[in-house]
Amino acid sequence: MASGTTLSASAELKPVLIVGAGFAGAVLARSLADAGLPSTVIDARSHVAGNCHTERDPVTDVLTHVYGPHIFHTDAAEVWAYVTRFADFMPYEHRVRTTVGTRVYSLPIDLLTINQFYGTAMRPDEARAFIAAEADPIPAPANFEEQARSTVGVRLYEAFFKGYTQKQWGRSPKELPASVFNRLPLRFRYDGRYFSHRFQGIPREGYSRLVERILEHPLIDLRLRTSFAREAATGHGHVFWSGPLDEYFDFRLGRLPYRTLDFEHFRAEGDYQGCPVMNYADPDVPYTRITEHKHFAYWEDHPQTICTQEHSRAAGPTDIPYYPVRLANEKALLRDYLSLAGTVDGVTFIGRLGTYRYIDMDQCIAEALTTASTYLDALKAERSM
Ligand code: FAD
Ligand code: UDP
Repeated sequence: MASGTTLSASAELKPVLIVGAGFAGAVLARSLADAGLPSTVIDARSHVAGNCHTERDPVTDVLTHVYGPHIFHTDAAEVWAYVTRFADFMPYEHRVRTTVGTRVYSLPIDLLTINQFYGTAMRPDEARAFIAAEADPIPAPANFEEQARSTVGVRLYEAFFKGYTQKQWGRSPKELPASVFNRLPLRFRYDGRYFSHRFQGIPREGYSRLVERILEHPLIDLRLRTSFAREAATGHGHVFWSGPLDEYFDFRLGRLPYRTLDFEHFRAEGDYQGCPVMNYADPDVPYTRITEHKHFAYWEDHPQTICTQEHSRAAGPTDIPYYPVRLANEKALLRDYLSLAGTVDGVTFIGRLGTYRYIDMDQCIAEALTTASTYLDALKAERSM
């Protein structure tokens, strides 16, 4: 980890420029600062934490996940130790419900979902055998649909995944990689937790406060409302870029596809849906899910509530990119950008957008710690020459 490496102050150290004050940029800046290396961190937005940003709704006072619901979950003890150094985490295990037609089920698919869906009372081994018989025999599933049909069978696939995935990605599930389906577990026991990770929680004061604390260091110069301009790199020893990979190259090879989200907020009295996230699996419901933010901060008491409907669509040039769309058979453009990125001296691409990968907060943090460590080791070696 970067904390093991410190730089001697004997020769002048040029600060590095870090583009983006999300988890990737913030963790990197802090690791470098802890080792004695200054940085300028810029972000085009008016707040830190990137897409994990949380703020209090001025009307209900509910802590709101402004760019979609975020739950912290990881198996990496060092990442959990890192985040809990900067924030007090409340225990939280995410549970999602999904509406299919006129019924509500628990998601991901567990024994309760299976028994409710089929109107049965199967025990684990019976359900396992039943689903194995339901599943399509596809020897090497090559895309989302094949992976789903060969894991849960066509009926569960069509009820829970087909419509939702089409809405979420704007593509047929046949075009999406199998790995997207594999994000969700299938359980033959009664366990409705969305994630199985060892460490799970929600920061008591929200993600933005956590990231602000990471960035609170005298060697970090944070500049919000500041978009990257090439001249900004002048005077800096290196650039770390957590913005969209294609944007760094002014889209010269074309635009990598992203999905953006439109969020429609509404307020109500009391409790609107009784859970933090309700998915809507049916294709004729225009949104994918509704988030009711106060259920994340269950330790607070609010008489009113704020909810958010999420609509997904292809990102245009002025939209916020949320999801890199890595199609099963369309990797050429990404390959070309990655090769281009490999040829640029003095720039490292980090984070979800900078590496164009569908990664969670914990992975961003783990990778930022490694990137910092590698960079510091190289710098130390260079200075001792
Ligand atoms: P970002 O958070 O996107 O930060 C990048 C920053 O760079 C932004 O603030 C942006 O303004 C800035 N920037 C970009 N271009 C420029 C520029 N040219 N000049 C200046 N600044 C620029 N992960 C989980 O672990 N759990 C979850 O429950 C979860 N839920 C999610 C739900 C949704 C809807 C989405 C979209 C993602 C979710 N994630 C979740 C993933 C999580 O959001 C990412 O892993 C994390 O935000 C990535 O951090 P980052 O720093 O790489 O990128
Ligand atoms: N998915 C689905 N139905 C649901 C929830 C998820 O079909 O009710 C699919 C969808 O394609 C999604 C993928 O499963 O992209 C992975 O789900 P996850 O919750 O990890 O997606 P996220 O919202 O984090 O991108």
